[in-house]
Amino acid sequence: MEEKYKRIAKLLLNSKKCIALTGAGISAESGIPTFRSKEGMWEKYDPAVYASIDAFHKDPSKYWTIRGDFIRNYDDYKPNPAHLTLAELEKMGVLTSVITQNIDGLHSKAGSKQVIELHGTLRRILCMQCSKEYTAPNVPDGTPPLCDECGGVLKPNTVLFGEPLPAKALSEAQRECSTCDIMLLIGTSTVVYPVAALPKLVKENGGQVIELNLENAFPFTDYFIGEKAGTAMPQIMAELKKIKNNN
Ligand SMILES: [Zn+2]
Repeated sequence: MEEKYKRIAKLLLNSKKCIALTGAGISAESGIPTFRSKEGMWEKYDPAVYASIDAFHKDPSKYWTIRGDFIRNYDDYKPNPAHLTLAELEKMGVLTSVITQNIDGLHSKAGSKQVIELHGTLRRILCMQCSKEYTAPNVPDGTPPLCDECGGVLKPNTVLFGEPLPAKALSEAQRECSTCDIMLLIGTSTVVYPVAALPKLVKENGGQVIELNLENAFPFTDYFIGEKAGTAMPQIMAELKKIKNNN
């Protein structure tokens, strides 16, 4: 294992442009419920009823019953060592950007600056009527909460089922993937398009994919680490610092 961490640390240090693509797996260690896994939220709550844009327009309270607690307890959720290591890598100039499917805002909380949030964020909540912006955990009471200015329904700035991904974020992500030589693929099963196409884009442009997942999900992975990212990332960082200090 240690050999593998060392090899990956070297790859990161020698890369011209390294990026990360993260999914629910990285935040599971921070206690964020996962949605698509076997025991995930979508097994319990039918997304067509609880998290589609059509359902939201019909009855936003259903959506708020499953997301409201997270938003009101937002300050309780902390980034874990995997988020923190990615932020540190960026600060050191090793990592260029993080593309994430997560809506929990933990990369920004950890200190990452270049974060491309493909599915938006629960941190920002907008009034659908007057566009007044709220920031988690500060939303009015009520399920759904209503705007204290105009009484409109509040909706987090996230992508619901049936909504397209934000075009700007997606094109930024595609640009990052086609210009990097290393991608760290962390905690994502890469089954859902268009996100699933991103690691492929890296490979098509001659880059390498380093995957940290409990199970190998991407068939064209160059280096696979079947460990929790919160354990593996600090080890990679430790090896990276050893190499730097020896030079
Ligand atoms: Zn309003």
